[in-house]
Amino acid sequence: MQSSWMIELQRLCLTLLFFGLTGWVFDRPFLGFALALFGYAAWTLWHMRALESWLSAGGHDETPDSSGFWGVLFDAINRLRKQQRSEQHRWQSAYEHVQDSFRALNDGVVLINPHGLIDWMNPASEYLLGFDPARDRGTQLTNLLRDPVFIAYFEAGDYSEPLHMVSPVSGTIKLEIQLTVFGQGNRLMFARDVTRLQQLEQMRKDFVANVSHELKTPLTVISGYLETLSQTELAAEPRWSKAFDQMNSQAVRMRHLVDDLLLLSRLESLPRANNDTIYLAALLRDVMHEIGVAFPGRVIALQCDDAVTVQGSTMELHSAFLNLLTNACKYTPKEKAVSVQVERLQDGCLAVRVKDEGAGIDVRHLSRLTERFYRVDDSRFSETGGTGLGLAIVKHALMRHDAQLLIESRVGEGSIFSCIFPADRVGA
Ligand code: ADP
Repeated sequence: MQSSWMIELQRLCLTLLFFGLTGWVFDRPFLGFALALFGYAAWTLWHMRALESWLSAGGHDETPDSSGFWGVLFDAINRLRKQQRSEQHRWQSAYEHVQDSFRALNDGVVLINPHGLIDWMNPASEYLLGFDPARDRGTQLTNLLRDPVFIAYFEAGDYSEPLHMVSPVSGTIKLEIQLTVFGQGNRLMFARDVTRLQQLEQMRKDFVANVSHELKTPLTVISGYLETLSQTELAAEPRWSKAFDQMNSQAVRMRHLVDDLLLLSRLESLPRANNDTIYLAALLRDVMHEIGVAFPGRVIALQCDDAVTVQGSTMELHSAFLNLLTNACKYTPKEKAVSVQVERLQDGCLAVRVKDEGAGIDVRHLSRLTERFYRVDDSRFSETGGTGLGLAIVKHALMRHDAQLLIESRVGEGSIFSCIFPADRVGA
C-alpha cells in the first residue's frame, strides 16, 4: 500500500511535469499545470463515484476494476471482505454446532435475551416446558412460565442454586431449573427432568424410615427381656456377666441408631420448621442439664444474653445443640474446656458457637463430617459409641431453619462448630 501510494505520487508529479513542460513550449506553463490537475481530479472523482455506488449497492458484488492506486485500494477492500466472510462463516458453523448439540440434549434449553424474551429453544423444551418454537419465540418467558415461585427466582437474578418445580405440561414431571447469565444480560436456561431421581430419593427415605420403624418394636422386646434377665442370678455368674454387659450396651447402641435414623427421616420429610419463639439461653441451659447427666462433673461455660430469641422448632434445635455438645464432651478430655457462645454478627445474623479444646479434626475430613455414618477414625468411633449420624442431624435441623453449620478445627487444639442463623429468624 505504501509503495503504491509513492508510485501514485510519482505519477502525479510526472503528469504535472509533462503538462507543465508542454505548456511552457507553448508559452502557457500554468495552463499546462491546470489541465493536468483538472484531468487528475476528474480521474479521482470518477473512482470515488465508482466506490460510492459500489458501497451504496451493499458492497456485495466485486469491487470496480481499476489500475494504479485505486486498483490496489479495491483489491485490499476485496481481501478484507473475503476474510470477513470466512470469519462469519466460521462463527456461523460454530453457532450451528452449539445449536445442534443443544437440539440433541434431553434437557430443555432456552436462550433468553436481556429483555426476558425467548430467542431460541430446543425440542426438549417443548415436551418438558410446553413451549412451541414457532409460536413462542420472542415471547416474554414469564408469560409462559407463570408459577410465582419461578417468576420470583427468575427476577431475583441469584442463580447459585437450582430451582425445583413441577412442569407446566404435567404435574407428574418434576423439573430442576438452572439459569446462567452470559454476555450482556443474556440468560441460558436448562430444564432437567428429575422425576425419576426424586422418586428414587423418596424411595430411599421411605425405606430408611420404614426399616427403622420396623426395628423399633423387636428392639424394645429384646431390650426388655435383657433387662429382666440382667436382674437374675444367671447374669451374675462370671461366665455370663460379660456377655450380658455386651448385649446390653449393643442394644442401647442400636436403640440410639434407630432413634437417630427416625429423627433424620422426620427432618427430611416434614415441610418447614415450626415458628416458635425460642429463648436460646433457656434452651441451651436445658441441653447442658442433659449433658450434665450423661457426662457427670463436666463444666460447660455459657455466654448468651437471656433475651436472645430465634424463630424455629424447639425440638429440632434442642436436638442439634445436644448433638454438638455431646460431641464436644465426647471428644474432649475432662480437664479441657468446652464452651457455648452466642454472638450477634454485624449483618444481623446470630452465631451459636460450640467450642472445645479436644482432639480436633484433620482439615481433610471437615467437608465430609456431616455425611451420614462418616467417621474420622473408626477406633475412636467404637470407643465413644456414637452412631455417626449426629452431625447429619445437626445439618438437617439447621437447614430447616435456613441456618448454616460452619466447622473449624485443628488437630490437637480443638474445634468450633458454629450455627449461623439468618437475621430474619433472630429476635432481641
Ligand atoms: P458420632 O456419633 O460418631 O459422634 P457425628 O456425626 O456426631 O457422629 O460426628 C462425626 C464424626 O466427627 C465423629 O465420629 C468424630 O470423629 C468427629 N467429631 C465430631 N465432633 C467432634 C469434636 N467436637 N471433636 C472432634 N471430633 C469430632
